[in-house]
Amino acid sequence: MTVTQDLFREDSYLQQCEAEVVALTEQGIVLDRTVFYPLGGGQAGDSGELERVGDGARCTIVDARKLKNPEDQPTQAVAHVSAPGEPMPLAVGDKVIARIDWGRRHRMMRLHTGTHLLAHLVGAPVNGCSVTAEGARVDFAMSEGLDKELLGQGLAALVAADHEVTVSSISDAELDANPGLVKSMSVQPPRGTGRVRTIRVGGTEAGQGSDAVDYQPCGGTHVLRTGEIGAIVVSKIEKKGAQARRVVVSLAD
Ligand SMILES: [Zn+2]
Repeated sequence: MTVTQDLFREDSYLQQCEAEVVALTEQGIVLDRTVFYPLGGGQAGDSGELERVGDGARCTIVDARKLKNPEDQPTQAVAHVSAPGEPMPLAVGDKVIARIDWGRRHRMMRLHTGTHLLAHLVGAPVNGCSVTAEGARVDFAMSEGLDKELLGQGLAALVAADHEVTVSSISDAELDANPGLVKSMSVQPPRGTGRVRTIRVGGTEAGQGSDAVDYQPCGGTHVLRTGEIGAIVVSKIEKKGAQARRVVVSLAD
């Protein structure tokens, strides 16, 4: 089975890496390692380009997805989707530089980290989440209304506090023993390797401490400190049913 080493999980700030083309599939180009985040956990897939080492031949990448097996289940490989209608010059065995559209990704990292702050501020179970470069939305399972002003002020305060954002992991068994860590009803924690990646905003090791903001399993890409989120605003709060409130946030720069 093909596995793509996902460098972005350890270091979300990697903008490019060297890699080898290991397969060309109908779903996309598969590399042995990548900095491209594949669509998942609500976060959109990265775009960018692959550049062949040697002659510099380029291939525009419009999206990245988890490669699916014949049973239509996602695998541990990443399919880099080339631009439709453009020539695709790569062959298996080619060495390439895989380079993401960093401006777009960094916006998604800021917005994604912002959704963790929202989860803390609202404090209700999350029933859906979407992060793109244009904005993020989080659906909360709750019947009470939300105050747009107050939420916006809460976000600004957490950004100003410049909390540290730390990537760590716990074992599947530890997660099973602490089901309360999972705040999302719609996104399953990123299991599969025996360990589950966790994201902590503020606080100490186990998400404790007086400045603890949020601690939950998450496979996405985040900024290193909440200050880096910068100018984030609540653009809309929608009632999506008796038990659902949608909060939409965007970047003001
Ligand atoms: Zn996250």
